[in-house]
Order: sequence, then structure tokens, then C-alpha cells
Amino acid sequence: MLPLPALEEAAQKLVDFEGSGMSLVEMSHRGKVYERVHNETIALFREILTVPNEFQVLFLQGGATLQFAMIPMAFLRAGDAADFILTGTWAKKAHEDASLVGRANIIWDGKTSKYTRMPQQKELSFTSGARYVHLCSNETIGGVQWASYPDTAGVPIVADMSSDILSRQFPWNNIGLVFAGTQKNLAPAGMAIVVIRKDFIAAARKDLPAYLRYDLHAENNSLYNTPPTFTVWATNLTLKWIKSMGGLEALERLNREKATLLYDLIDASGGYYKNPVEKASRSLMNVVWLLDDDGLEDDFFKEAERQGLSGLKGHRSVGGCRASIYNAMPMEGVRALADFMKEFMKKHG
Ligand code: PMP
Repeated sequence: MLPLPALEEAAQKLVDFEGSGMSLVEMSHRGKVYERVHNETIALFREILTVPNEFQVLFLQGGATLQFAMIPMAFLRAGDAADFILTGTWAKKAHEDASLVGRANIIWDGKTSKYTRMPQQKELSFTSGARYVHLCSNETIGGVQWASYPDTAGVPIVADMSSDILSRQFPWNNIGLVFAGTQKNLAPAGMAIVVIRKDFIAAARKDLPAYLRYDLHAENNSLYNTPPTFTVWATNLTLKWIKSMGGLEALERLNREKATLLYDLIDASGGYYKNPVEKASRSLMNVVWLLDDDGLEDDFFKEAERQGLSGLKGHRSVGGCRASIYNAMPMEGVRALADFMKEFMKKHG
């Protein structure tokens, strides 16, 4: 879900961008008008996420998935290792790609607990000299999120924040690189935002095809080639909406309230609805649950759909139910779902 004011402004300005007589998506990405939008978007992003000066913000294509490959290709030279914390589908995908490129050590795997929790600090030990440790900030499918990142004994963190970027305040200590596909909390698909520490840019391999080179993207302010201009503009509009909502402090408060409403309802349902995730690892963005009587699932989705509540099916790989309550989902939407879940339980309980 994207913020309605952002969608409305994009719709209103799509044909004639601010009196220019042209759509922004028809303009050259090297022209003054687009350049202003591009730079303003970077500046807004930096301001809202309080990105420190030693980092650069990049807009790249290929989604978060290209980052799974591009990061190890850029940072793992012969003999180098990276650590991976396997917390679910997305961390595993990143690990699979990195294994094709270099030494990708699994330092923790949540398999035995069916990926229903994040590890505790005492379960982690990092490979000395590892170039980075990869973690997935929020596992979109499993509904498991790091409440706060672990202490990695000085190994820089590479975080996949695809499904929780800009959802809460973010401490930058010990971060080497974060990345996120835009299509959850920011804009339509088509881009990944990468925030990369400048010493990481300097250390990245240069003997790679151009698009895979962080240094080229950084030197060219993400204009090495044609950027996805519509997605950048939509990101800009969403960032303005975040500011108007009071920034990340306010959004974090709202996101906690939204998630708490659903988790409390699930926990108070006497097992009618079940969330398999350990409480300390529950996601604020993706709330998953199972119906005690899974034979009722189809009815649940059908009746929900009739009330205008759509997209509640869990990911095809795991089944069950999932409410993705990203930033732009208002409290009313979550209340409507909670009311429906209570009604459904009364009717079929
Ligand atoms: N990481 C996470 C945490 C995701 O949720 C997703 C997409 N759902 C991806 C990576 C892959 O993103 P993309 O489709 O932009 O490549």
C-alpha cells in the first residue's frame, strides 16, 4: 500500500509536470527538472532516515534481488568470507547467491525452530576477518523481525531492509551497507535504495561489468545510466508524506500500535488464531497467523474479501494468513481487519 496523497499527486501531475508541458517520465534524466527531483529525493531520504555523512545513498535497479548477487561480487575477493544469519526465506536467498561467489558462512540457521525467531546474541559468533555479516532486518514471509540488530564484534552489517525500511528509527552504528527494494514502504517496484558506507565504496571491486560497480554508481550520483525516474519521483512523494506524518518517530509509534492491535487479538483468541513467532521477534510489518481449524481458511479469505479486506493470504510457500501492514496502511484498515477477525471467530468459533 502506498500513501493516498502520494498516489493522488502522482496522478494529478503525471501528464504535465508542474507546468512544464511534459510528463516527468518523458524528460531526460540529465535535464534540470528531473535532476532537481532526483537530488531532492536523496536529500529527503537522508534527512528522514538520519543518514550519517560517511554514507552515500544510491538508487539502483534489479530490486533487492540484484543486491543479493552484487554485494558478494563487489566485496568478496578470493579467500574472503562473509557471515550469514539465516532467519527465513530472504536471508537464505541472499546466502544462496553469495555461495556462488565466495565463502558464505552460515553462522546461525533458524531451521530447527522453523524460522520463528531471531537468534539471541549469545548464539552468534562471527568469523574473524569476515568482510561483512548479512542479516535480513524483517523476514517478510515468516513475519520475523530483529527488534534491534546484534553486536557483531566489529564485523560490518549488511542489512536487507526491503520490508521494514523507514518503518522505525534506525541506529547506524556498525552498518556497512543497507538495501531495500522500494515496493513496500516507498514506491512502485523498479528500484532498490542502497545506503553504503564510503569505505565500502572504496573497497568494492572495480574489475566487474559496469552496472555491478558501486564506485561507478556513487561517482555518478546514481545517474551512470538511466534511472527509473517514475519510481524515484514516487519515492520523493512518499518521503514528503512521511515528513508530513511527523517522520520516523511518529510512524514507528503508529506501526507499533497497528501491530499490537493484531497480536493482542490473536493472543486473546484462546488459540483460535495462532501466531507461531516468538514474541520478541514478532514483525511490526508482516503479521502472520494460522487458524486453529485450517479447514476454515478458504471461508476466512472469502468473507474477508466480501468486506473489502484483500491480500490476506500467506505467501504461497508457507500458507496461512498474513497482514502486511506497511507504513501507508492506516489504523482504520487494521481496525477493520481486527473487527472482522473477531466477528469471524464469533460466527464460526
Ligand atoms: N528481501 C526481502 C526481505 C523481501 O521481502 C523481498 C521481496 N519481497 C526481497 C528481498 C526481493 O525483493 P525484489 O523483488 O525487489 O528483488
